This record gives sequence, structure tokens and C-alpha cells, in this order.
Amino acid sequence: MTKTDDTLFELKMAFVAFLNSFFPFEYENKTYRLVNNYVATPWIRCDICRNYPIQDVSIILSSDGQELRVGTKCIDQITNRKVSEWFSEFRTKRENVTRNRRYIDGLASILTAYESSGLPFQISENDIDGLQKAFERMCNGFDPTIKQEQIAECYVSLRARG
Ligand SMILES: [Zn+2]
Repeated sequence: MTKTDDTLFELKMAFVAFLNSFFPFEYENKTYRLVNNYVATPWIRCDICRNYPIQDVSIILSSDGQELRVGTKCIDQITNRKVSEWFSEFRTKRENVTRNRRYIDGLASILTAYESSGLPFQISENDIDGLQKAFERMCNGFDPTIKQEQIAECYVSLRARG
């Protein structure tokens, strides 16, 4: 597995852990669990407030097997937690990691080679420091700053050529 695959896998584990962190909750005299969250295409109607369209959908399942598809406002209300915010951040991080795949995997390779003095080119400690910071930032699901992207691009291209 590449570093990007590892990072995406960790994000998926965090998603599962978040779902599992919910105690069953009551809604209209029934006990529900939060079982999933996804982006609906096409958009759908919220089973609780009947608002249309909703795109960010949480699925809740009652103990007697009834499944409801719920929008952001309603899921936050009935669970009394900032559920929609968590899922929205989760998706942004997943998109960022996926988009930055080339830099993440490229920098993982460069930093590993640097540790074992296996790089075919010279690199200053200052630049290594910058690459390390950019790498950590992207692995944490954030986009690199413009400066970080420039230095990452420079060395990842250099590495690809050599
Ligand atoms: Zn609703």
C-alpha cells in the first residue's frame, strides 16, 4: 500500500469509529442507531422534516428495522451532536488526500530515501524541513500552502526524472 492508501484507510477507520461512538438515541418513541452517511445523487427528501433537496444524508436504523434517511439539520437535532459538521470535514479531508496523492506518495518516497542517504540529488536541511511539514499537512487531510505546493512540485518532479 502507498502512503496515500494508508492515509485513506485510516480515514475510513475514523469514519467507522465515529459511527460506533453513538449510543442508540430516541426519536418518536423508537430507538435508533446511526448506520451510515453519504452524499446523495440525485438529491433526496429528508424523511423527518420532508425538506427537499438534501444532499448530505445520514441513515438511521430503528431497533425494529425501520430505516430513515435524514438531512443535516435533523440529524444534528435528533442526536444532539454536530454530526453533519464531522462528516463534512471527513469528506473534505478524503478529497484533499485523494487530490494530493501524487505529492503524498512522492514525498513519502523522497523522505524515506533521504533518511537512508539514498537520494540521487542534494537537498538542503531547510528544504527537507519544508517538505516534511508539507507532507504532514497533506497526510492530515489539508491542502498544502502555495509555497509548500511549489517546493513539493519541484522535488517530486526532480525525483520522477531521476
Ligand atoms: Zn430534515
